[in-house]
Amino acid sequence: MKKYFCVKCGYIYDEIAGDPERGIARCMLVSMLPDSWACPDCGASAESLCARKVCNYETLKADSMNE
Ligand SMILES: [Zn+2]
Repeated sequence: MKKYFCVKCGYIYDEIAGDPERGIARCMLVSMLPDSWACPDCGASAESLCARKVCNYETLKADSMNE
């Protein structure tokens, strides 16, 4: 279970939480998401979700808050 973030808008998808508002059950892996799933913020497909950059994104946000 990982958290992913949308590379286009920064929306966070948490596999543990799923996406109940869009009918996605808890513990739904990103690789298991239906083709109909789209980022609720920008409409990107699940292919835009990136796991590796979650830390980087949050680090970037933290950095910008420190400035
Ligand atoms: Zn998005």
